[in-house]
Amino acid sequence: MKIVAGVATDIGRVREGNEDSYLVEPPLFAVADGMGGHRGGEVASQLALETIEERFRAGEGSLSEQVRLANRAVFDRSANDRKVAGMGTTLTAAIVTGEQAHLVHVGDTRAYLLRAGAMRQLTQDHTLVARMVRTGEISAEEAEVHPHRNVLTRVVGTEPDVVVDEETIGLLEGDRLLLCSDGLTGMVTEDQIRAILEAATNAQEAADRLVRAANRAGGVDNITALVLEAVVGDEDPAEHPADAVRTMPAPVAPPATRTDATALDRRRLIRWGVVAAAAAVVLLVGFFAFRAWLDTRWYVGVSDGGNVAIYQGIPASVLGFELSHIEVETPIAAAQALATGFHDGLNEGINVGSRSEANQLVAQIRKDVGQATRGSKGGSP
Ligand code: MN
Repeated sequence: MKIVAGVATDIGRVREGNEDSYLVEPPLFAVADGMGGHRGGEVASQLALETIEERFRAGEGSLSEQVRLANRAVFDRSANDRKVAGMGTTLTAAIVTGEQAHLVHVGDTRAYLLRAGAMRQLTQDHTLVARMVRTGEISAEEAEVHPHRNVLTRVVGTEPDVVVDEETIGLLEGDRLLLCSDGLTGMVTEDQIRAILEAATNAQEAADRLVRAANRAGGVDNITALVLEAVVGDEDPAEHPADAVRTMPAPVAPPATRTDATALDRRRLIRWGVVAAAAAVVLLVGFFAFRAWLDTRWYVGVSDGGNVAIYQGIPASVLGFELSHIEVETPIAAAQALATGFHDGLNEGINVGSRSEANQLVAQIRKDVGQATRGSKGGSP
């Protein structure tokens, strides 16, 4: 048997750069998904795959050891170059011959095997939600829409060393192996992936159709699909592209680390930030306008001490805040003013148009109280 490869990568519909990289250097194949903002993501995924390819050619160690060397290379570059500090990459790589596939994996890129119409995931995501699904905290359906579904628990290049998952499977004629970035699996359901992978007439068509499907579904992330098919025939190791590691030629990418949010999430955040800031301005302007308006309002009411008083503001409170304050407290007892029968509204506050109207009203109350007092004195000889 021999292996036929098909590969497609696309920037997607949202991102400004393609941080995915792939490697087609039979029998070595890989997909990497970089992260780390600006140039970081592209550098990390490309550097990791270049390192693996280099060490593989040099026959240095096993594939998982080559991944650990790649980890070290990304880590060192990140530590020495401020522009790419903190970068990292996920990756799934495989040495695939006609007889078997030896897989290594770190992060949330994935490998799937389609055999006789059934598809199964060969890799386990190193994400927080995958761990939560395994421990039964959340269901697989909940994981798909979980706000932290992009948080990775294992990454190549962010620590001095990394633990690498490994698996070897035997291959049968007609098997189709898919290595892909989360820009595919985050957009297209496994059922759809299985259907496309099965229906395509060859590996390249499958890869192209998978990327198209992810773009049709929104394409919020970079998409890479690498399809390998075990077909009858002799292996021909000479038949492969010259430049093995390829990424999209892309300008500077926006800051996007998958450890906190996708670029889309970030854009949403920025959008909501603008809305929130606008709302805050409206509230603030409203608040000051209201304050200014309050200052033009006056009423005559009763002080805590039971005297007639002139208030600035309105006789009300909001959330425990009084919307008025006493400007002048008179020595006139409110009880006496009420007793005149002319000023029943005192307890609730008698609204007036201005400070001088308030003064006039107080003068009137004083007069009324004086007359009532004299009247009662005169009326009871
Ligand atoms: Mn991705």
